[in-house]
Parts: sequence; C-alpha cells; structure tokens
Amino acid sequence: MKVLIDMIALRAAMIRNPATELPEALCHGVAGGMKTIRELATFRFTCRRCEEAPCIAVCPAEALEKDDEGIIMRHTNLCVSCKSCVTICPFGTMMTDFFKHHRNRDLLYDLCDHEQARKFVQACPTGTARLTSEDEKPEEHIYKLNERVLIRDYMYVTFKE
Ligand code: SF4
Ligand code: SF4
Repeated sequence: MKVLIDMIALRAAMIRNPATELPEALCHGVAGGMKTIRELATFRFTCRRCEEAPCIAVCPAEALEKDDEGIIMRHTNLCVSCKSCVTICPFGTMMTDFFKHHRNRDLLYDLCDHEQARKFVQACPTGTARLTSEDEKPEEHIYKLNERVLIRDYMYVTFKE
C-alpha cells in the first residue's frame, strides 16, 4: 500500500485557507538527512533546476547541492535555517515550512509503517492524501517519489536539444 499525496489539491486548499498544512512525514533512505515529503516532492517535481542555482550560491552553510540527477538536495545537518535560499529563489520553490520540523523526529509520521501512514492520511487536509495500490500514472500527473509515496503534481520539465 502506498500513500498518494495530491500537491495540486493541497495548494488549492492553501489558497482557500492559508493556515492549511500537510502533516510532516518521514522518508527513509534519503541522502542528506531526514526530509519531509513536501520538501522532497518540491525539489523533484517543481524546482526549475536552475543551471547556476542561486539557492546554492547564496547558502552560507554550503548545505545545498545537486544530486546525480540535478535535483537540489539539502543537507539538514549543515542547514542553519537562515532562509536565504527562500528569499533568493526566483520561482518561489523554497518554502519556509521546509525548515520547521526537520530536527524533531517525533513530529513526523513514518510512512513506512502502515498504521502511521493511515494516521497521516487522516491528519491531512480533506482531499489531499489517500492510501492506494495504484502505480505511477503520468497522464494523471501522478509520479513515484519512492516505494511508499506517490505525488500528484504538475512536473516542471526542461527540454534539452
Ligand atoms: S536555510 Fe540557509 S542554510 Fe539552510 S539551505 Fe537555505 S540558505 Fe542554506
Ligand atoms: S533557485 Fe529555486 S528554482 Fe532554482 S534551483 Fe534553487 S530552488 Fe530550484
């Protein structure tokens, strides 16, 4: 069973009510330390992957780098939560909520645990998450984040000659 998180529905809910939040959840096996699903999904699917990434250049702690696929990765053990990257990102990709809970494991749902995954879905704003046995469906904007999590979002695509 997987968890499908609908980032499109989440953004719509945040517009209706700016206090809307996705409960934070853990992703195991991720380089650079403990990350929330929202951070991982944002870097993978909506970050514009700037060639001369200003977020990396501005970071005073050298906490940001690109992985082998060119996806921005934040080293949580280096990040000092100064939010300079949030200010400089020209596309509004970086969000201040990335830095809220990243050192408090107790506040995070572990989506590898079925019971916690079920509780996570219950805690999500209505219509933003569900348990599913579906697989990736690009035609419906549903993509695999990892073995346990599917994300529905409009993927930013770059075309190379
Ligand atoms: S919040 Fe500051 S230290 Fe952390 S990644 Fe962004 S620029 Fe770097
Ligand atoms: S500046 Fe923003 S859009 Fe560009 S690579 Fe960094 S996070 Fe992504």
